[in-house]
Amino acid sequence: MYDIAVIGAGINGSCITHELTNAGKRVILFDADGIASGGSGAAGAFISPKFSKSGELKDILHDAFLYSLDFYEKNFPHLLTKSPLLHIAKDEVDDVILRVYKKKTDLELLDAPQLEREAISINAGIVNAKPMCEALSKSATLKQEEVVSLEYDDGVWIINESYSAKEVVLATGAYKTLLNEHYIKLRGVWGHRIDVKTTTNNPHSIHQFVSISPSKEGELAIGATHNVHYHPQTATEEYNIEAGREELLEKASRSIHLENIEVTKDYMGLRSGSFDYMPLVGPLVMSHETLQNKNIHFQTKKPDFSAYTYYPNLTMINGSGGYGFVLAPYLAKILAAFILGDKEISKRIHPARFFARWAKKL
Ligand SMILES: Cc1cc2nc3c(=O)[nH]c(=O)nc-3n(C[C@H](O)[C@H](O)[C@H](O)COP(=O)(O)OP(=O)(O)OC[C@H]3O[C@@H](n4cnc5c(N)ncnc54)[C@H](O)[C@@H]3O)c2cc1C
Repeated sequence: MYDIAVIGAGINGSCITHELTNAGKRVILFDADGIASGGSGAAGAFISPKFSKSGELKDILHDAFLYSLDFYEKNFPHLLTKSPLLHIAKDEVDDVILRVYKKKTDLELLDAPQLEREAISINAGIVNAKPMCEALSKSATLKQEEVVSLEYDDGVWIINESYSAKEVVLATGAYKTLLNEHYIKLRGVWGHRIDVKTTTNNPHSIHQFVSISPSKEGELAIGATHNVHYHPQTATEEYNIEAGREELLEKASRSIHLENIEVTKDYMGLRSGSFDYMPLVGPLVMSHETLQNKNIHFQTKKPDFSAYTYYPNLTMINGSGGYGFVLAPYLAKILAAFILGDKEISKRIHPARFFARWAKKL
């Protein structure tokens, strides 16, 4: 019997595994295709804040950026490359946004070159994606196995009819839905990034139409495309790798002139985004049981999440969109505090917000 079963070994599953094993819990970690085989293995894993004027997503990403950069540096300095990030506006609208951002931010601003468009430079970093997931999850028992059944029996979760755990954490990204709950909707956005050999030396990360990493031994990474139409589990045609490469190189060429290019590696995967762009972290509502409760008024602007019925000892960490590596350490700390200490989860990231909206419409 394990204390906790984590399903999905991407950056979210790996970070929560790290928090729980550090707290002395026995964790079994499942992934159908191995560590970082989903979106996390494809990520450029740039650690950056969101350069927008305001909003909940900007706020959480600001806090997560500071927390996670520090977390990676303290715990896994060998898997973090610290480098300045040059973020360049895409158009005139973006120029205005960056000007407002610069005025409001408490981040230390570095000298940015004078460019045609507005630009901002800060200290940031890049994570070595797959080795980071491996390092985070090293103290768990890893099972390369797809989880196809989850049953709760007499206070214990039975997984694939073979393994038992007191708690379950779902960290399955955009790939599978294990629970048949209609209010949980995650959007899988396909992304492609490439490693490129080039004689051009790029000293810093550049973010504009795509992200371009600093050069290392004559190579750099360019990512990522955002393809909302392609999904590996439903597509009828193969993904067009050549077209993806062309798009990436064309977008990169608008920010930097790269000479003598040779694409050396392709990475592809799904980001998992929620419909309000905020992550989903915490317990999951059992919709059927909750809807039966005659004492709950669903047509309200201020839903009381504590009145809902939840799956026992089961939580989710998901919906990080294009910021999984920025958010995961920060979200895992919040989720671990909930699992280990029953610490309340903020309504802005609680999955019950989607149940409340869905139930209101019924
Ligand atoms: C090309 C690209 C570039 C990106 N660049 C960045 C970036 O620069 N910075 C950044 O912060 N983020 C970036 N992202 C986003 C980031 O990669 C994602 O937000 C993050 O990987 C999501 O992690 P996750 O753990 O939620 O999901 P995933 O990494 O997708 O992990 C989910 C895992 O669950 C497993 N799984 C699913 N169902 C089951 C099941 N039933 N049984 C067993 N296993 C199961 C899958 O095999 C998968 O490994 C990028 C994404 C892409 C695709």
